[in-house]
Amino acid sequence: MTVLVCGGAGYIGSHVNKQLHKEGYETVVFDNLVYGHREAVKWGTFVKGDLRNTEEIEAVFERYSIDAVFHFAAYAYVGESVQEPEKYYYNNVVNTLNLLRVMKRHGCNRIIFSSTCATYGESERIPITEDMPQNPINPYGFTKLAVEHILEDYRKAYGLEYVVLRYFNAAGADPEGEIGEDHDPETHLIPLVLDAAAGNRPDIKVFGTDYDTPDGSCVRDYIHVADLAQAHLLALQYLQNEGKSSCFNLGNEEGTSVLEVIDAVKRVTRKDFKVTCVSRRSGDPAVLVGSSEKARKVLGWSPKYVDIDMIVKDAWEWHQKRGKLHESRIIASDNIDYIGE
Ligand code: UDP
Repeated sequence: MTVLVCGGAGYIGSHVNKQLHKEGYETVVFDNLVYGHREAVKWGTFVKGDLRNTEEIEAVFERYSIDAVFHFAAYAYVGESVQEPEKYYYNNVVNTLNLLRVMKRHGCNRIIFSSTCATYGESERIPITEDMPQNPINPYGFTKLAVEHILEDYRKAYGLEYVVLRYFNAAGADPEGEIGEDHDPETHLIPLVLDAAAGNRPDIKVFGTDYDTPDGSCVRDYIHVADLAQAHLLALQYLQNEGKSSCFNLGNEEGTSVLEVIDAVKRVTRKDFKVTCVSRRSGDPAVLVGSSEKARKVLGWSPKYVDIDMIVKDAWEWHQKRGKLHESRIIASDNIDYIGE
């Protein structure tokens, strides 16, 4: 079975690509490398291409017999989405329509789509379940919600089969140390705290300590990227076994505050660093914790790396290794397919 991994050079996509390969799937990774990294595509065939260009997607479907698609390719900076909504709607929504059009033309009707807890906005109840209202509070969340609706409409009209996976806070790195998180610019808490621990930044800023939470800092549900990857494999098998199109939360069901993350980093790295409390970052809900009961029951998902220290440990090991990789610019094996060049 051959699967297309759009955005497979990015953080979560590259981990899913690795898992797919381990389970014996043939993968074709399609990525424009705007935010993805060529070095992260160590498995399968790599095609440099852009979902903006329908002909480039066509060329992949002409050349390979694609049975299912994983779609990770999206912009995901919440703040930027507020400043430049057009960029987000085009990239995340219009480009997805391009992909769906080509899939339809080639009779490929299975897709696993990366969505987000940001589609829920400010939730009234915690933990968040899939049936709760979705009221995003930023354009990024709206783009993901728009695609969720598009998929459902395509299902009804054209028989598309989909699984929507709503991630909570993806964190950690490949436990085997081959790939990990590498955003530029980096805005996520754990890699930034690790930067402070490594002495690459003078301090870590805590955005708000006056929230209505036990220690005043924001609470999030951090989920190990390897556990996320496993859920994607199960989602594919679910569709292969004629499972009905559906949406699933993917989180640990455990809330960890910003200050608790900082403590975990200090414990794991055995390094001390400066912590500066600053004002709130706009658009941050106080608490985001999901219920993943549906994914456990229906997909049979069972996260393994549930402890925040385990998540931070893998992130730290990768963080140290990545510094060295950046110095040597090691490139992955020669698995590139020059479609369209
Ligand atoms: N955060 C922080 N300092 C930072 C980066 C993030 O205090 O330098 C907080 C942020 O306000 C949020 C939590 O850490 O409450 C997780 O933020 P992140 O950007 O990692 O993920 P998000 O929850 O926005 O998806």
